[in-house]
Amino acid sequence: MEDGRRLHWYGDRCIRCGLCVGICPFDALTLEDGMIKIDHDKCTLCGLCVKGCPVAALAIRPQLEEIARERGVSLEA
Ligand code: SF4
Ligand code: SF4
Repeated sequence: MEDGRRLHWYGDRCIRCGLCVGICPFDALTLEDGMIKIDHDKCTLCGLCVKGCPVAALAIRPQLEEIARERGVSLEA
């Protein structure tokens, strides 16, 4: 979804319960090799998985911020 935000998974918080995979109505999440994979083309940013995760390991955040975080780049001046 191209509205400047996207779903992000925090692997350091996730307890691999798999709840979010079952919650997503759009089949955008999979649990593979201990990692939650997000299909950003399928994700509509509905937020259901964010609400359903018991440990706040999913969040919808600005896309630029997330890309920078994943690449280890600081956006701070
Ligand atoms: S935000 Fe909605 S569509 Fe996106 S992965 Fe979570 S439940 Fe699925
Ligand atoms: S619901 Fe949360 S803790 Fe459970 S697998 Fe998904 S992201 Fe991880």
